[in-house]
Amino acid sequence: MSQTRVDIAIIGTGPAGVSAALTAKIRNKSVLLFGKKELSGKVIKSHTILNYPGLPEVSGEDMAKAMKDHLDRMGIEITEEQVTNVYAMGEYFAIQGAKNMYEASSVILATGVMPGKLLPGEEANLGRGVSYCATCDAALYKGKEATVLGYSPKEEEEAEFLAEVADRVYYVPVYSEEPGISADNIEIIKGTPKEIRREDNKSILVLGDREIASDGIFVLRDAVSPGQLVPGLETEGAHIITDRDMSTSIKGLYAAGDITGTPYQDAKAVGEGNVAAISAVGYLASIKAQKEV
Ligand SMILES: Cc1cc2nc3c(=O)[nH]c(=O)nc-3n(C[C@H](O)[C@H](O)[C@H](O)COP(=O)(O)OP(=O)(O)OC[C@H]3O[C@@H](n4cnc5c(N)ncnc54)[C@H](O)[C@@H]3O)c2cc1C
Repeated sequence: MSQTRVDIAIIGTGPAGVSAALTAKIRNKSVLLFGKKELSGKVIKSHTILNYPGLPEVSGEDMAKAMKDHLDRMGIEITEEQVTNVYAMGEYFAIQGAKNMYEASSVILATGVMPGKLLPGEEANLGRGVSYCATCDAALYKGKEATVLGYSPKEEEEAEFLAEVADRVYYVPVYSEEPGISADNIEIIKGTPKEIRREDNKSILVLGDREIASDGIFVLRDAVSPGQLVPGLETEGAHIITDRDMSTSIKGLYAAGDITGTPYQDAKAVGEGNVAAISAVGYLASIKAQKEV
């Protein structure tokens, strides 16, 4: 389902995304903020933050709560959908969420930095048996077998959704909690993922001591690397290359926070989110002025 086009879509509800959303709203722009109601796992896990101006010795939980209250007071809602792709369409951006498609005139990426590395063979087989979105691609698995690599318990829901369509789902939990899956056609297989291969039209997930062959593999993490999120975006390792105004190699697309590089700090993320929003507002004004000429 495509929705009304907003001025600025912000992806990520950490300090960078929250700061960008507040500034964009104050500048009277329509905003779509993608992320979670809990805002950021990193902020919540911070025991005591000693260097955030005005909040001495604040716990991460209290900081997240203060930020969430601020969003609520400003009437900014969070769209709780994982964004799997952002496509630059020229005049606007098409944003593929796990459930819906969205449109925005400009985009700010504030996704934080992805923990860990991609699996060998993951990137090379993306779109050739490797997918990042079960709800988007489930329909392709009618009568087929799929493997789901879930990096957090919330991915169990995605595996169950897939199992409603697919004949069989192999679920590999990459976390310590015991999976709570009950569907008869889901087999839970434990092991450490090592590699992904494509052979004879089958996708092979190599675990420590065995291999699972199926028609496709869903790799479900909280975050995807920026190059996969936005095809064609200039990156350096795990980071997006930006200018001082937080603009990226794609016109109308900005980035802020840990995703732009070290130091990984709350105050830096907040500052960059603010700059990115102000730059996006300037960009929107410039395209409006061009149309009026
Ligand atoms: C244990 C710990 C202690 C720390 N202590 C301090 C400290 O004392 N002082 C300090 O300054 N910094 C500290 N930090 C660092 C600080 O937490 C980070 O620098 C900060 O959270 C970065 O903010 P961010 O907005 O860039 O990204 P994040 O906080 O990582 O937020 C990114 C958000 O985007 C969401 N997201 C990602 N991809 C998608 C997608 N595709 N679709 C939708 N949502 C998506 C994520 O789920 C997440 O909610 C600490 C970090 C840790 C882990």
